[in-house]
Amino acid sequence: MDVSQMAGIETKDVTRLDRVGAHSHILGLGLDDSGQARESSQGMVGQLRARRGAGIFLQMIKQGKVAGRSILLAGQPGTGKTAIAMGLAQSLGHDTPFHMISGSEVFSMEMSKTEALTQALRRAIGVRIKEESEIIEGEVVEIQVDRPASQTGAKIGKMVLKTTDMETQFDLGSKMIEQLTKEKISAGDVISIDKATGRITRLGKSFTRSGDYDALSTNTRLVSCPDGELQKRKEVVHVVTLHDMDVINSRSQGFIALFSGDTGEIKSEVRDQIDQRVSEWREQGKADMMSGVLFIDEVHMLDIECFSYLNRALESPVAPIVIFATNRGITTIRGTEDQSPHGIPTDLLDRTLIIPTKPYTEEELSQIIRIRGEEENVNFDDDDEAIDLLTEIAKTKSLRYAMQLITTANVYARRQKQSTIRIEHIRHVLSLFADSKTAVEKLGQYQDSLIGQKKKVE
Ligand code: ATP
Repeated sequence: MDVSQMAGIETKDVTRLDRVGAHSHILGLGLDDSGQARESSQGMVGQLRARRGAGIFLQMIKQGKVAGRSILLAGQPGTGKTAIAMGLAQSLGHDTPFHMISGSEVFSMEMSKTEALTQALRRAIGVRIKEESEIIEGEVVEIQVDRPASQTGAKIGKMVLKTTDMETQFDLGSKMIEQLTKEKISAGDVISIDKATGRITRLGKSFTRSGDYDALSTNTRLVSCPDGELQKRKEVVHVVTLHDMDVINSRSQGFIALFSGDTGEIKSEVRDQIDQRVSEWREQGKADMMSGVLFIDEVHMLDIECFSYLNRALESPVAPIVIFATNRGITTIRGTEDQSPHGIPTDLLDRTLIIPTKPYTEEELSQIIRIRGEEENVNFDDDDEAIDLLTEIAKTKSLRYAMQLITTANVYARRQKQSTIRIEHIRHVLSLFADSKTAVEKLGQYQDSLIGQKKKVE
């Protein structure tokens, strides 16, 4: 059970999670030290020129030369535009904020277009907050839970922990009890508690003071150890986004809105206060800002007002790295009658590096499918028939569809109590789930019998 479920909150961000989950095998751009793209590395396959181009942009970011600039990934659906954007974000560090929206989302939210864009930009700017924390290690003497977990975070039990020469009592809230349960901690276990984050880790069963503290956690030094006092200090770094801070500090929202994703409009005073606070922390050396990545897919769906807003926002000293993607060629700029490449006004296009993505070869598709299979812990049959069929589907229908079939075939195979996916499993799920092209064909054939269609005139 996650925190939002505990709080009884319905999470609305499912699609976004789904979209990110589909790229969980991407760990970076897969470049070597000289910036050349390796044929297959860090979950990335092929698309060598585009990855190399993204790598040059990555160097520019690291050298602080991207202010006011962005990149546009232009190519057909399923050619890895999102994957490359995620790979670039990963190369900037695993805790780099990455946020993705699709151009059309800006219009569907219950807020103004510019507010939606501001929120998206601030979701892609991280604040790295540094804090000194104490780690306490000890043996659990007793855990006592008085009443069932509540949503309030109030004390609902206690735990007695024995360090070398004393016993300390801790109040337990529902979050700590959840951790104790998850880690299966009981009396006699040796645990560590991070006082800043409340994180509890089970270290083992018997209480041996080996003195090998580094093996337990990195970044750690002993505060004092006259007689083996088991308290250590370490620097803890939390990364939150500016948007998270806005939401938490917005009195009408509170932190609950973080889980529901339903933040509404945020007042500009709240943002000013946050900016002010972060700049004070920076001066005091307590925090750093980090530019994350905002990926705007279907950028041609934005209109002229959005583009001029983004043009200005890109100039800001704390702007995130903005990556656009589109599968359109020359098209009308929304909100005008003018046409332009990718539907983007020329002033924005001028400051954008365009990286084309190309369709994959059969071999590359097959390799992506294998990697995705590994990511989903799927075993394919040794004769490769299942992979060959999936590759064919990726080529003729779409790569995304082929990937969906891996997941569904795996569920089906397991229900058949089989640990490997064979060609018949793929064929079975193929008969159950149509890809978009087939769905369109079928709708054409059966449209007369569907509600909302005019009867054919004989
Ligand atoms: P769309 O225009 O439909 O948004 P896209 O160009 O963004 O498509 P992706 O979503 O990146 O395409 O690719 C489809 C799937 O294939 C994703 O799961 C992605 O992670 C994976 N994929 C694409 N390219 C590569 C690659 N070069 N290496 C590994 N996986 C890839």
